[in-house]
Amino acid sequence: MAGAGTLLAASAFSFRPIHAADNKAAPNAISPSDAFEQLTKGNAQYLANEPVDQADYAVDRAARTQAQHPIAAILSCSDSRVPTEIIFDQGPGDIFVVRVAGNVVSTYGLASMEFSVAVLGVPLILVLGHTNCGAVASALQSARERSKLPGHLPELVEAIQPAVDAAHGKHPSDLLAATINENVRLGMRNLTSQSKIIGDAVKSGKVEIKGGVYDLATGKVAMV
Ligand SMILES: [Zn+2]
Repeated sequence: MAGAGTLLAASAFSFRPIHAADNKAAPNAISPSDAFEQLTKGNAQYLANEPVDQADYAVDRAARTQAQHPIAAILSCSDSRVPTEIIFDQGPGDIFVVRVAGNVVSTYGLASMEFSVAVLGVPLILVLGHTNCGAVASALQSARERSKLPGHLPELVEAIQPAVDAAHGKHPSDLLAATINENVRLGMRNLTSQSKIIGDAVKSGKVEIKGGVYDLATGKVAMV
């Protein structure tokens, strides 16, 4: 089963990609643009309220016990209103999702993304923010009021701070929306600057990184 056991095995015995059992190309051995096209199509199906890919969860359940071949890795916010698979009309096994408040790049999230690239062979990474993001709003508020949040929240706010600074520098009419966009761009940059595995995969053209913002009001994902 391609779960935690595979992750441990991969790290113990070199970071090797998983190949399809019969040496055929893996189902996710597609171009970054084809993967992006599938997500775009899925979001259109979701927008039209006509889900197709999620119609039958039982299909391929047996095959999924053997391997996973996700077409994309998505770094998304934990916000309950942004159910990542659903908004792209993707089913089990289709996308590899790292969710954390504010869709920030953390050490464990980065390791997960590296696993998706080096072992699972995803051709596409999407950093996905969303409108009215509470984590980004908190970072803005914390910077404005110079207030200190409890627990580990200051670390999260600190991770978003470069996006707050970048947005302020552009004097936008909608500071929250601008910061959300900047935070997506920050995440895209961090993935390549903080990970040689991801940086090399992008340089070689194997992987593409895109950024988007999900609109809670319309359900549409707009590219950043
Ligand atoms: Zn959020």
